[in-house]
Amino acid sequence: MVVTRIAPSPTGDPHVGTAYQALFNTVFARQNGGKFIVRIEDTDRARYNATSETRILDMLDWLGLTPDASPRHEDELGPYTQSLRADLHREHARRLLDAGHAYRAFDTSEELDARRKAAEERGESYRGYDRRDRDLPREESDRRAAAGEPFVLRLRVPLEGETVVRDRLRGDVRFDNRELDDKVLLKTDGFPTYHLAAMVDDHLMGVTHVIRAEEWLVSTPIHVLILRGLGWDEPEWIHTPWLLGPTGKKYSKRRGDPSVEDFRRMGVLPEALLNFLGMMGWSMPDGREIFGVQDMIEHFTWERVSLGGSTFDVTKLRWLNGKYLREVLTEEDVATRLHAFLTEQGVQVPLDDHFRAVVRLMVPRFEVFSEFWEKSTYFFTEDYAFNEKALKLLADGRDFLDDLRRALAEAPAFDQTTLEALLRGFADSAGLKPGKVMQPLRAAVAGTPESPGMFELLEVLGRERVLSRLDRAMSVASA
Ligand code: GLU
Repeated sequence: MVVTRIAPSPTGDPHVGTAYQALFNTVFARQNGGKFIVRIEDTDRARYNATSETRILDMLDWLGLTPDASPRHEDELGPYTQSLRADLHREHARRLLDAGHAYRAFDTSEELDARRKAAEERGESYRGYDRRDRDLPREESDRRAAAGEPFVLRLRVPLEGETVVRDRLRGDVRFDNRELDDKVLLKTDGFPTYHLAAMVDDHLMGVTHVIRAEEWLVSTPIHVLILRGLGWDEPEWIHTPWLLGPTGKKYSKRRGDPSVEDFRRMGVLPEALLNFLGMMGWSMPDGREIFGVQDMIEHFTWERVSLGGSTFDVTKLRWLNGKYLREVLTEEDVATRLHAFLTEQGVQVPLDDHFRAVVRLMVPRFEVFSEFWEKSTYFFTEDYAFNEKALKLLADGRDFLDDLRRALAEAPAFDQTTLEALLRGFADSAGLKPGKVMQPLRAAVAGTPESPGMFELLEVLGRERVLSRLDRAMSVASA
């Protein structure tokens, strides 16, 4: 069975990169009737963030990429929290030691620092651990460990030859063993490093395909050597292309690129975000831009992944989200989801026909939910403010707004067609251009000249609101 995984470290805000990996891992697992798991790699206690794990798992639920197994949903191959597996890591470290694929190194960090400095002073660039303790006789190593001397366990990397990583997307990637470092596998406190823990866990969790970001490719020869040392088969390695931020550098939360939670707060739809991530480095065979996870499962092939690295352009994501609002979701869906979004933001408006009518009217005018409220507040309160431009327009309309109010009060109906005829007729008989009438009217009922089409606006507001708004505007204008 195909088993894929993501192995996020809970160090802070849920990363866009984690969502990206989760998408490709989910798609590949589902396409093959396999299993997608999430292992939380929390062994780096210094960078551990207590809320991060929950937020990562919540993010996956929000995106609809809920894994088959995770710390929230354990199965017989768990626990899926790495720190709870330290005994397993130590047990396998011991096997590597006994088989001669690892050795104890007793250097203190002061010694290591001093040697690194001395090497720098000689003008040598740091090439990793100098392997001082690599050839300590085993008896001496055992004796010193038994005597309580602190040590780390290091991988015994072959001193010559090469280690080949078979990457699904890149073919054979060759690493000269002389360039590899004898990486630490167990730290002095007996806790594993990422390299050991990840490989032991991947194997014991039955992971068949390691699909992860390109930045891990350089670590993969180390991973291959660990697996070999333990006598285990390698998974298939697939390193996905870089996600780049707007400056062409790696997309990074630390560099200030938005997190998934930022997009959620912005009011981006999860399906639009997934669609967008799917377009990063992959494309549909028919070139379609709008597609969902299900479409990806049907059409996904590694051959269509391009390695160049893709730029994550927030403007394009917003555009795509707008397309979802106008072309993919039903009107009712947009209204209910927008309403839920507003409620979550603490905005209280009823989900009624007026709300639905406003959403229908405004939907071409916003791309993400967070823009809706600032552009539409005046539809929901009689207490809206008049901006400066609006006040000027009200002054321009002082002479006729009263008559116009009377005409609107007597209008035989309050639909767009009737209103259009009425307003044009009114302008005509007043000897004014239609715009000269409509701009002050718009300012009066919306508090701003920037609003959707005049006739639609009036219809959605309804006669009663329009008349009382005109009253308020005229008293403001004459004040
Ligand atoms: N814990 C690593 C991370 O934070 C996992 C890397 C991997 O997928 O092997 O990305």
